[in-house]
Amino acid sequence: MHLTAEQGDITTVHVDAIVNAANSSLLGGGGVDGAIHAAAGPRLLAACRELRRTTVPDGLAVGDAVATPGFDLPAAWVIHTVGPNRHRGETDPDLLVSCFTRSLDVAADLRARSVAFPAVSAGVYGWDPDDVARTAVAAVRSWDDANPAAVDEVRFVLFDAAVHDAFERAL
Ligand code: ADP
Repeated sequence: MHLTAEQGDITTVHVDAIVNAANSSLLGGGGVDGAIHAAAGPRLLAACRELRRTTVPDGLAVGDAVATPGFDLPAAWVIHTVGPNRHRGETDPDLLVSCFTRSLDVAADLRARSVAFPAVSAGVYGWDPDDVARTAVAAVRSWDDANPAAVDEVRFVLFDAAVHDAFERAL
C-alpha cells in the first residue's frame, strides 16, 4: 500500500473514497464534517438521514464506519466514522484504531482502491495530533498487513500545517 501525508482540503481530493470525521448523529457538524456536507451538496444529508432511519437508528457508534455516495464531491464515496471525544472521556486509543480499520473494511467492501483520511479526533474532539498521527499510521499499516492488496493507496489529507507535520513525523 502507498501511504502519504499532504496538507490540503479533503473535499477536493480525487480518490475513490474520503473519510469523514462525523459525529454519532450523522446529521452534520462543524470542521471537516461541515466542509464535506457543503461540498457534497444536500443529497449527502438526505443519505445520512436515510442511514439513521434504516441502518443506525440510535446513531453511529464511536469507532464504527458507514458509507454514502459522494454526490457532488470528486470522490465516489464518503465513509463516515465517529472518532473518540477526549472531552467526553473517550481516551482509549483502540477506539481511534477502530475508526481507521473499520473505515478501511468499508472501503474494501466498496472495492475502493484509494482512500483519503482526515485527522480524525484531532480537532473539536481534542486528541493530540501526534497521538492521532501515530495511531492512524500504525492502524493503517497493520490493516494492510492483514488485508494485503485490498486497498492500493491511503492519503492522509491534513488541513493544518502543524497536523501535517505530525503525520510526516509518524510516517
Ligand atoms: P473531530 O471532531 O473528529 O476532532 P474536526 O473536524 O473538528 O473533527 O477536526 C479533525 C481535523 O480535520 C482537524 O485537524 C481539522 O483541522 C481538519 N479539517 C477541517 N476541515 C478540513 C478539510 N476540509 N479537509 C481536511 N481536514 C480538515
